[in-house]
Amino acid sequence: MRTIIEQLERHRRFLVASHAHPDGDAIGSLLAMGLALKAMGKEVLMYNESPIPAVYRFLPRVHTIRQQIDPTARFDAAILLDCGDVERLGAAVAELDKIPLLINIDHHVTNSGFGHLQLVDEEACATAEIVHRLIEKLPVEIDDTMATAIYTGILTDTGSFRFSNTNQSAFAICAQMIARGANAYEVAQHVYGTYSLGRIKLLNLALDSLEISPNGRLSVMTLTRRMLRETRTQDEDVDGIINYARRIQCVKVAALILEQNVNGSAAKGRRHFHVSLRSDGSVDVSQLAAQHGGGGHASAAGFSVESPLSELKVELMKFAETIAEKCDPN
Ligand code: 5GP
Ligand code: MN
Repeated sequence: MRTIIEQLERHRRFLVASHAHPDGDAIGSLLAMGLALKAMGKEVLMYNESPIPAVYRFLPRVHTIRQQIDPTARFDAAILLDCGDVERLGAAVAELDKIPLLINIDHHVTNSGFGHLQLVDEEACATAEIVHRLIEKLPVEIDDTMATAIYTGILTDTGSFRFSNTNQSAFAICAQMIARGANAYEVAQHVYGTYSLGRIKLLNLALDSLEISPNGRLSVMTLTRRMLRETRTQDEDVDGIINYARRIQCVKVAALILEQNVNGSAAKGRRHFHVSLRSDGSVDVSQLAAQHGGGGHASAAGFSVESPLSELKVELMKFAETIAEKCDPN
């Protein structure tokens, strides 16, 4: 922490970035970190490869996050937020080679330890919690914009203070952020209050795709590109749908298979999928994700594969047999 603060004070030009297909923590910690550095008078480029999901577009200053890095731009340091490994950044990962100092700030158990300096705490409920800890030690006043960003990061990464990562700091920091101008009702309305009709129709298709392993312990939902096309939805609309699969009685692990929007490169019969995994806390799904080249937390993880859909499902069902004894959900 002390070394990182020294480096932030010493340098002038920063690239601040978080993972592609960002969630509330990726956006919230990015904004808070970027704005804190700007408040210190630094030159900052806030970057995310993906467009900002509609539900986060209300965040003050979120429109200053860029989707491009000027290849001629020079940076003294890069800060990567909420990325378990450096590839999570996306295609811009090659740009990092030109930057002399890489700082890794994250809370995933599977964090690879990349970068020259690491501030990784798997006990933190969100990367926004660690960013808050850091900003508190900087010569910066947390204003309502930063407060709203940090609040949103913690609210969303703890599933509104319901997931197993919900700790004392989650409540303590969020209370402070409200004192500094974050509006809890307004954030909740934007993040959870409004669904497009397409998103509800997509939820309907997801529920309809539900399959349960013979022992009742694993639930699988499948969403194809066709379903997203038919409902005029995008990847960001899939966020949160997996929680319906996780809630089912007896289920210990829920999987959501989302076909990826990748052109042409898959071998015959194979397709690109991202698999999201959630557990009730009794099964460490980060291990299963890591075995497939992904990662995450013990109770929320993910990985990407190229495979026929049927084989992927068979593999998940095989994993289900190792989870626990039979249970009847009815
Ligand atoms: P989600 O299922 O929402 O995509 O991700 C759940 C958690 O697993 C998140 O914390 C996310 O960062 C992590 N995760 C998801 N997919 C991957 C992946 O392909 N690689 C790594 N390292 N982590 C992932
Ligand atoms: Mn996070």
